[in-house]
Amino acid sequence: MLDCTPKKITERTSGGMINPAKTCQPIGAMYAALGIHKCLPHSHGSQGCCSYHRMHLTRHFRDPIMASTSCFTEGASVFGGGANLKASIQNVFHIYKPDVMAIHTTCLTETIGDDVSSIVKTAEVPEGKIVIHANTPSYVGSHVTGFSNMTKAMVSYLSESTLPVKKEQINIIPGFINPGDMQEIKRLVKSMDIEYIMFPDTSGVVDSPMTGEFQMYPDGGTTVAELKDTGNSKVSIALGRFASSDAADLLNKKCKVPVAVLKTPIGIKATDALLMTLRSSFVREIPKELEVERGQLVDIMTDTHFHFHGKTVAIFGDPDIVTGLTELVLSLGMIPLHVLTGTPGGSSNSVSGSFEDDINIMLESTGMKANVKSGGDLFTLHQWIKNQPIDLLIGNTYGKYIARAEDIPFMRVGFPILDRSVHSYLPIVGYRGAMRLVEMISNTLLDRADRDAKDEDFELVM
Ligand code: SF4
Repeated sequence: MLDCTPKKITERTSGGMINPAKTCQPIGAMYAALGIHKCLPHSHGSQGCCSYHRMHLTRHFRDPIMASTSCFTEGASVFGGGANLKASIQNVFHIYKPDVMAIHTTCLTETIGDDVSSIVKTAEVPEGKIVIHANTPSYVGSHVTGFSNMTKAMVSYLSESTLPVKKEQINIIPGFINPGDMQEIKRLVKSMDIEYIMFPDTSGVVDSPMTGEFQMYPDGGTTVAELKDTGNSKVSIALGRFASSDAADLLNKKCKVPVAVLKTPIGIKATDALLMTLRSSFVREIPKELEVERGQLVDIMTDTHFHFHGKTVAIFGDPDIVTGLTELVLSLGMIPLHVLTGTPGGSSNSVSGSFEDDINIMLESTGMKANVKSGGDLFTLHQWIKNQPIDLLIGNTYGKYIARAEDIPFMRVGFPILDRSVHSYLPIVGYRGAMRLVEMISNTLLDRADRDAKDEDFELVM
């Protein structure tokens, strides 16, 4: 299918993308909004955008994703969507009865210049109900930017500092990760006996159990009371600076809650950093059960190292996830040759530097060099691979076309994964998540070794 991708790399002067390695901002905003308890995400734009965003999330999580839309037609596109949005706010609260309506914009409403903030201020919002909004133009950033913008909106609309002394509790901003990962991070924090507020928290929402009864608003999600209380916490941890640090920075500015920006805890090093930050912030000891898990992970890495040590790998996907995966494969003795994210960029408010800086610093510390790019596309990644072949490709579902064209073992991690299921329930973070990733890497490589072995080399024990 991608057989016509040329090996020769020519500079693209037009700046166009071929097979983008990202999707649009509102998808991230919609996902973040689902992490608020009893919240209905609302797409201010046309029905087509909203359908696409819901479908993409539904296919990844295999759960129905609820959202409403301002239903633009030609009239609203020309004269502005203020009337549509005001009618939507009335209808949504009357018919679907959420506690919160989280509005995000689309390319169309951003281009025509709808001032959502002013429209919301003059709309009739029923007593006790809340409307928040985030601007999410899709021609800027990616779905990760949209997630970040909606998380920031939670802080700007809701967080309050109401106490003279901060509470002994922590805010955990988990970033654009699966509900299974959020559960795992909460388990780590709980095991250290620390009070926390995770926001947004999609566990219990997009992975809710089958009960036989339809529940428009599942039990999970961060409550409005908790979101308000984030301003009273002693400290915030932003996991993954692309998805989380802007919200944490705003909370610091607004409510004076200091922030620690850490990597998404993928692999042993990043998980250690999270636990050490928790330990030093709250003077807690690391519980025995986590020490045991860490020891098991080290044992597994040692026992299986000959499966992956020295193997070359390409990684693509969202910047926070790719950064964590790169650190993990380096700790396994693998050689990352190509590292790419479709999300542009850029420095965050908290920490100077960029995705490319982060990856290059990690590579330099191990004496390695690789092709590294932010704001890249899968065409570029494919060309890199044609010029410098690899033993393993790691990324989201869209990588399967490159894997097929080049006959490379492929491991699915990240967002979106549209052709496999269950992944969103199982963590890749923490020590247990790292065990799972090591198993996935080993099995993918060993399956290929079995497939390619001659009869006389086909081994029972590997
Ligand atoms: S028009 Fe913009 S917001 Fe709508 S689906 Fe396309 S990129 Fe996304």
